Amino acid sequence: MNLVLVGPPGAGKGTQAEKLITEFGLTHVATGDMFRAAVSNGTPMGLEAKKYMDAGKLVPDDVVVGMVEERLAQDDVRDGFMLDGFPRNTHQAEALDAFLEKSGRSIDLVLNIAVDPELLVKRLTGRRVCRECGGNYHVLFSPSEAGDKCAGCGGELYLRDDDNEHTVRNRLDVYRNQTEPVIGYYRPLGKLADINGALKPDEVFEQIFKAIGATEESESA
Ligand code: ADP
Ligand code: ADP
Ligand code: ZN
Repeated sequence: MNLVLVGPPGAGKGTQAEKLITEFGLTHVATGDMFRAAVSNGTPMGLEAKKYMDAGKLVPDDVVVGMVEERLAQDDVRDGFMLDGFPRNTHQAEALDAFLEKSGRSIDLVLNIAVDPELLVKRLTGRRVCRECGGNYHVLFSPSEAGDKCAGCGGELYLRDDDNEHTVRNRLDVYRNQTEPVIGYYRPLGKLADINGALKPDEVFEQIFKAIGATEESESA
């Protein structure tokens, strides 16, 4: 199964992706994580991308689309992937369909995780990420049992450069103007499942689990 997770910054895409990996063994392809890796490796692409990331803007489509097309040509996504953070505008959605079609693949289900903007600001400014394993925490909603270290690996927890209130508000505007139309792109194709992301992580996952079950049933029917 090939999935797409759509939702504003802070909706819980990364948190739900961790659960999907455990439950369904899908390979997680997160464009934000790929860019952050390029930034920390100091590659030319990373340095270019960082300018956009720090401003809360989208990295230009040609850079992103090329990177994802290359990633989805690798062997480990043959049995299924979940895209997180891509596509982020309708041009990226069209490009994705076009290059998947070349290898006889398509998107099976798009999970649209919706959360109220004010809650998103709280979630993002309180988010802490492990520098070593990428583990995801929140200072109030899901604190690490190991304090300012990662409960999983002992790594240092940090606040992302773009998780300050000013950049967060820009990212939410970009989401509304550029990414929300992606929902309108998939809805008429009958591939969209609306998920209430304001509930507890396990309750959000329960809705996702049901949506995947319904898609599997309709595809095998
Ligand atoms: P979040 O998970 O908080 O929504 P991401 O980690 O997905 O944020 O993205 C961080 C930043 O990386 C974005 O603000 C943007 O600058 C860049 N980025 C990630 N994915 C894309 C994409 N598909 N198109 C353009 N820019 C992207
Ligand atoms: P995204 O990948 O969509 O940007 P994350 O999964 O990183 O979002 O979640 C953003 C922040 O909100 C993290 O600090 C995470 O621990 C927290 N969070 C995620 N899902 C929930 C939830 N259902 N309830 C409360 N906090 C959550
Ligand atoms: Zn860790």
